[in-house]
Amino acid sequence: SRGLGDVYKRQERYRQEYLKQRLEKQASLDLLTGLYNHVTGELLIKSRIDNSAHMYSAFVIFDIDSFKLVNDTYGHYFGDCVIQYVAKRLAECTREDQDIAIRYGGDEFVVYIEYKDSDNIEDIVKRIFNYVTDEYDGYKISVSMGISLSVNCGLHYYNMYQCADKALYEAKKSGRGCYRFYSE
Ligand code: GH3
Ligand code: MG
Repeated sequence: SRGLGDVYKRQERYRQEYLKQRLEKQASLDLLTGLYNHVTGELLIKSRIDNSAHMYSAFVIFDIDSFKLVNDTYGHYFGDCVIQYVAKRLAECTREDQDIAIRYGGDEFVVYIEYKDSDNIEDIVKRIFNYVTDEYDGYKISVSMGISLSVNCGLHYYNMYQCADKALYEAKKSGRGCYRFYSE
């Protein structure tokens, strides 16, 4: 049978492994929101693109409208809470192990969604858009959203990112508070 020394060694080995994994997990998350950070999120999407048999995916970027004004009017701490709230709503309306939800930076978020041919991607996007366009402590949150589809832009990270970003630009230009799909 094992001596007490072996037992402690095993305990310690497992404790170290646990701590290492927890640290790695923390480093991959955004501190304010608990969503994936930009670096990890980008890696995850790329690896999903490389390893997936899925043909259909959507790259969604959205950005809180006039967020500087929110900070300037109500203060940076309130701004932080709005970002946290939007992140919480985003986490609630996406599928934890399938969709990749990212705080891309500042007031900008990305979601990568794989879907089936039979799914209506416009409905999926609309649901997310409506869910994050909520109210926080009496403040009506407005976001603009740009979406690219792999069927239009090719299943490549930068193509999909650039197309979604162009669509976001169009959404901002056409008055904010709306979503736009990329089209040539
Ligand atoms: P637009 O409608 O064009 O998006 O206007 P905007 O004012 O939201 O402009 P933009 O998205 O370019 O600016 C985002 C601002 O968000 C800039 C920065 O001061 C603020 N910001 C970035 N990160 C944080 C954060 O962690 N907390 C808070 N409170 N503010 C942040
Ligand atoms: Mg903004």
